[in-house]
Amino acid sequence: MIKNKIKKAVGWFVNLFRNEIEYKTVTCEDLPDYFEKNVLYLVGENKQFWQAAMLCPCNCGDLIQLTLDTKGKPRWQVYLNKKSKPTLHPSVHRNVNCRSHYILREGKVIWCK
Ligand SMILES: [Zn+2]
Repeated sequence: MIKNKIKKAVGWFVNLFRNEIEYKTVTCEDLPDYFEKNVLYLVGENKQFWQAAMLCPCNCGDLIQLTLDTKGKPRWQVYLNKKSKPTLHPSVHRNVNCRSHYILREGKVIWCK
């Protein structure tokens, strides 16, 4: 538990000094075997995406998978701006492990308290 808190604090600190980092979007038909940092993966076909996945931005190493399918609950929506920078709605609030709570807006991670 304390270990997770330290990891979260370090992740927050690192992000503070790397706030120029922006997530990019990679589209794929299936989840890849290997995930890169600072990438939001959109899984689907023909611009219909049913799943988003990303490594947790706190650097805990966990993979976060989000349902985009309209039948899923809970579900998220992804918007891409002109530069394909992703915005996720609503926020991501993990209730396990690192318990990160953040918003991804135009490719940037905004931490919630
Ligand atoms: Zn995390």
